[in-house]
Amino acid sequence: MEKLPRLSPTVLDSVVVIFVGLLACGILYGARAGVAAEAVTAVVYADGVEIDRVRTDTPSERTYTANGYTLHMEFCPGARVVSSDCPTQDCVHTGVVTYGGQSIVCLPARIVVRMEGGAVPSDAPDAVLG
Ligand SMILES: [Zn+2]
Repeated sequence: MEKLPRLSPTVLDSVVVIFVGLLACGILYGARAGVAAEAVTAVVYADGVEIDRVRTDTPSERTYTANGYTLHMEFCPGARVVSSDCPTQDCVHTGVVTYGGQSIVCLPARIVVRMEGGAVPSDAPDAVLG
């Protein structure tokens, strides 16, 4: 009868498991540090004129009024319109924008919030139409 190979873990197996674990932690930590280093700024425009710049890595809430409409916004993480008295509510339904290049548009108030800076994800679309 042929002898079966020994299947219980050895010391060398434990060393390999620990090494792979440390490597995974290092990769995750490196990825997180890379994202945190590049803060995204929300630039707010009303009627095409820049009216505010807000860093999105510290929590804050602001209110913007233009063309008779008021947008209540929340920053960190990213930016979103919490409430608005505009008739379409498209700005509220946009939700949270977090990456550079994304934007929130409120047509009735003519307010645009554009995210600038930060790392752009590799799967991000070049443009969204429609
Ligand atoms: Zn709106």
